[in-house]
Amino acid sequence: MNFLEERIIKDGVVKEGNILKVDSFLNHQLDVELFDKMGEEWAKRFEGVQINKILTIEASGIGIACVAARHFNVPVVFAKKSQSVNLDGEMYTAEVESFTHKNKNHVIVSKKFLNENDKVLIIDDFLANGCALQGLISIINSANATVSGIGIAIEKGFQPGGQIIRNLGYRLESLAIVDGMNHVTGEISFRS
Ligand code: 5GP
Repeated sequence: MNFLEERIIKDGVVKEGNILKVDSFLNHQLDVELFDKMGEEWAKRFEGVQINKILTIEASGIGIACVAARHFNVPVVFAKKSQSVNLDGEMYTAEVESFTHKNKNHVIVSKKFLNENDKVLIIDDFLANGCALQGLISIINSANATVSGIGIAIEKGFQPGGQIIRNLGYRLESLAIVDGMNHVTGEISFRS
């Protein structure tokens, strides 16, 4: 087991409805030391890959992306969630369905912060059905920028997102892939 898998076993809580709660270290209270290790690990895995920007999505991705960015020496842009879309042409937009909240949001990124010269690493906390990632990829494509890779903290391997994204040919590096979890026993198993 790696450091993140160990932490998930120690502090993660399995909830009904295929939700893994990790709010004591990943997305409410934030363990910055752990984020630093995650950043170090992604930097190792993406060594030699051209990356000049990290893109994430609010809110949970921001902290992880910012700490990871210290290992890449690049700026972070986060896609903002917005119910209404400003159609003045200054924004790239995509529609994203939230796995946890079951609602749809537009996500927007200003055209000022993404362009055809950008080689982008996407970072996010979870990968479930892949909607959030597909929204971010679509925004990068709208800007004619390049997706250099994708770093995910926790992929739920029993949901389809990971396979969809890998089948599209993207390099996806998930630090922990949960292959099964049981809210009755609390058991969590990882892909080796
Ligand atoms: P997707 O778009 O891949 O279906 O879901 C990704 C987003 O849903 C993540 O950014 C994360 O915020 C949220 N999410 C999905 N599954 C879980 C989960 O099991 N636990 C938590 N805490 N968030 C999740």
